[in-house]
Amino acid sequence: MILDGMQGRVEKNYPLHLLSTWRIGGPAEVVYWPPTIEDLSSVWQRAQAAEIPVRLIGRGSNVLFPDEGLPGITLVTTSLRGIVWKDYSVRVEAGYTLARLAQEAGERGWRGLEFARGIPGSVGGAIMMNAGAHGGEMASRIVSITALWADGSIEKLERDELEFCYRFCSLRGQAWVLEAQLNFLPGDREQILQDMKDNLTKRMANQPLKEPNAGSVFRNPPGDSAGRLIEAAGWKGKSVGGAKVSEKHANFIVNTGKAKSKDVLALIETIRLDIQLNYGIKLQTEVESILTGNCGVSKIEEH
Ligand SMILES: Cc1cc2nc3c(=O)[nH]c(=O)nc-3n(C[C@H](O)[C@H](O)[C@H](O)COP(=O)(O)OP(=O)(O)OC[C@H]3O[C@@H](n4cnc5c(N)ncnc54)[C@H](O)[C@@H]3O)c2cc1C
Repeated sequence: MILDGMQGRVEKNYPLHLLSTWRIGGPAEVVYWPPTIEDLSSVWQRAQAAEIPVRLIGRGSNVLFPDEGLPGITLVTTSLRGIVWKDYSVRVEAGYTLARLAQEAGERGWRGLEFARGIPGSVGGAIMMNAGAHGGEMASRIVSITALWADGSIEKLERDELEFCYRFCSLRGQAWVLEAQLNFLPGDREQILQDMKDNLTKRMANQPLKEPNAGSVFRNPPGDSAGRLIEAAGWKGKSVGGAKVSEKHANFIVNTGKAKSKDVLALIETIRLDIQLNYGIKLQTEVESILTGNCGVSKIEEH
């Protein structure tokens, strides 16, 4: 077994629902939490050589795992938490919790990540998704990224070598984020902390945070909001199996207890069709469906 002798936590036949904020997913053949970037890179290379499928997640707040589980190795970055703070800049490993980073920066009076305080992902996942909220997005903080390419090489890329747009980073599907250098601006500590508190209050009021979910399911179409369209089409509260369109926010699908991946996918497809028929707009998913292939990341609409 290629993980023999590696340091760090390894689990076999591990329930994927424990790795996703949606609390959905069958068993993973193997899950590995690499404790260092070297371990992550070494497992990737060994798995490639042995033709074992591998995929990587952060905090699982934007993924839908299959009911039948996943073969091969599922890598989880949450043990990669190295961080160095210096002069309004931070070098941080991919598994660091984004919300914690935002809070810690705010405590120092460093401005720039207030928008991220309520986003429950990892730094790596947030960069890959170009996560954003309240008018801010990850791309605006990035100085450089250290990435692992599919051929096993590791490269430091400067901001101007990367492209970002709405929920998109040009490394998507091609490389993994190992660590990043982010910058901040000097700010007023009390004001930053208050702004973050206000952002959290807005989320508590508008999002179904007590039920398992994965944030916004669909991207906003240009000039409109997916939640507005879905609500206008009467979808709030409708369900398939254990998956239900939130009564609080129509762009959230919540797991009412025993939702299956297939319930969520069926609900997504039915909503998509309905919105297309009624409004002529084809909604694209924001949530990632993790399937079985190598690197294993595909958009739901492609399946
Ligand atoms: C309650 C709630 C609120 C949310 N609010 C927002 C919001 O306001 N704005 C927003 O943008 N998102 C929001 N999200 C979605 C989600 O939190 C973000 O997309 C987050 O950035 C995902 O990070 P993650 O570590 O959980 O990624 P995961 O869900 O683990 O992975 C998501 C994708 O990124 C890839 N990935 C993860 N880590 C890496 C890495 N190191 N290198 C390369 N690829 C990687 C995975 O393969 C997968 O394709 C919300 C989610 C929830 C549950």
